[in-house]
Amino acid sequence: MKVNPTGWNPTMPEEIANDAGAPLTTITGNRGLMLEEALIFEIGTTETTGVDLPAPAAGAPNRLGGLDRAESFGLPGLSEPETVRHYTRLSRQNYAIDCGIFPLGSCTMKHNPRLNEKVARMPGFGDVHPLQPESTVQGALAVIDELAEWLVTLTGMDAVAMSPKAGAHGELCGILCIRAALEARGDPREVVLVPESAHGTNPATAAFAGYRVEGIPATAEGRVDFEALKARLGPDVAAVMITNPNTCGLFERDMKAISDAVHAAGAFVYCDGANFNAIVGRVRPGDLGVDAMHINLHKTFSTPHGGGGPGSGPVVLSAALAPYAPLPFTVKQADGTISLIEEADVADHLPGSFGRMSAFSGQMGMFTRALAYILSHGADGLRQVSGDAVLNANYMLRSLEDLLDAPFGASGPCMHEALFSDASFAKGVSTLDVAKGLIDEGFHPMTMYFPLVVHGAMLIEPTECESKATLDQFIAAFRGIVERANAGDLGLTQAPLLAPRRRMDEATAARKPRLAWSPEAAA
Ligand SMILES: *Cc1c(COP(=O)(O)O)cnc(C)c1O
Repeated sequence: MKVNPTGWNPTMPEEIANDAGAPLTTITGNRGLMLEEALIFEIGTTETTGVDLPAPAAGAPNRLGGLDRAESFGLPGLSEPETVRHYTRLSRQNYAIDCGIFPLGSCTMKHNPRLNEKVARMPGFGDVHPLQPESTVQGALAVIDELAEWLVTLTGMDAVAMSPKAGAHGELCGILCIRAALEARGDPREVVLVPESAHGTNPATAAFAGYRVEGIPATAEGRVDFEALKARLGPDVAAVMITNPNTCGLFERDMKAISDAVHAAGAFVYCDGANFNAIVGRVRPGDLGVDAMHINLHKTFSTPHGGGGPGSGPVVLSAALAPYAPLPFTVKQADGTISLIEEADVADHLPGSFGRMSAFSGQMGMFTRALAYILSHGADGLRQVSGDAVLNANYMLRSLEDLLDAPFGASGPCMHEALFSDASFAKGVSTLDVAKGLIDEGFHPMTMYFPLVVHGAMLIEPTECESKATLDQFIAAFRGIVERANAGDLGLTQAPLLAPRRRMDEATAARKPRLAWSPEAAA
């Protein structure tokens, strides 16, 4: 077997040297027990295989009808142990919430209790198929129905559409409900107002649904500028999309007054509920006049996420929007059984439904995990989640604000995340350098450069799951790096020095990914 055909990282800097001054390179390319890994096509040989097929009997007729493959088609040739090791080594290169603190702001990277995983894998939940007869999946339908009940109760809303498959999909669902409601009253409107600090999915959703997006400015204290919003409201505004708590980590205190003004102007209030973790069990968005809000089950109610999924984004709806909710949905029959309402029955149940968001009922695995999480915490436990999350974020904020600029630190306690700018960094050192410095210290960086309203933003969300000891370790490492940034230590611009790969061209990797391997491209 070839060892490390790709060799050690060619960008290895010379300044990393051992005590004797020799560059820290190794024969294998491995660093300690951090193993280099080539593509699966580049290891093994085509002489090897994990299966022993019997040789064709001598003289047996060829039944391929002349379709015999003339040449090798380049499948990697590996034995079973080689294959297992390849994927195990790859998996160890992944940083995960199960390895350490994952302080990404706006992502709510919390512990995923193993109980949820166990429940989701029970055969009655894990092995069901969406096309099974209803009578055989009553348990699964009961999970959807009971979770729906919890979400409606926790948010103080009237109904919930369970099928959207992520937060962004939920936003689209909510905006489509709003469009259906406006069209039903013969008043189609053109504009959706979105605060400048909003997550990019908000304007993208409104634009995708055919609306013109206009920004709402923020006040100096990081909240929606209510006066500016009021001044812009008019007969062309269909909806206002507001994130609460917002992406600056602050509660929108004027939310009820904003909703009243929006409703008085004949428009609807969409609330981005991605940050529900900070208020669950304490604030009911329905009481604040919200008409539609998605809940990222994979954030607030724990489900492994990242790497593109899976997510789940049920949308709670007010009485004004509930008549337009998408298919399918569950209905409890008089005999206690649960039915799934689809196209054939919708006229009897919800004639205004705008249609459907997805082929089936939604993300069953996430529903099961979320309900397990909710039931194991109980109402009091969920209330404690938001309390501890906010406490941890404020500990972070107050432990760092003597070194870092906290642009809204004076606006009162933060909610679930602490926001800093790059104002204290000396010339030549950036937020990116500080994030890369954290990697050398063994910490996953925080969210960078978001929200856009803060220069060089660093958004840290510790969640309720981290102990004080973990927070203190992170704070100590972060303080050390920030001190270097404030002092203008340009060595930071070389970080990470100790990671297997250093600074990647991330933009090109995202925009022009090379997803297929070919011997020609590799040569
Ligand atoms: C995560 C997030 C979204 C999008 O949710 P997805 O589930 O990733 O589609 C929208 N808004 C905010 C504020 C978020 O944090």
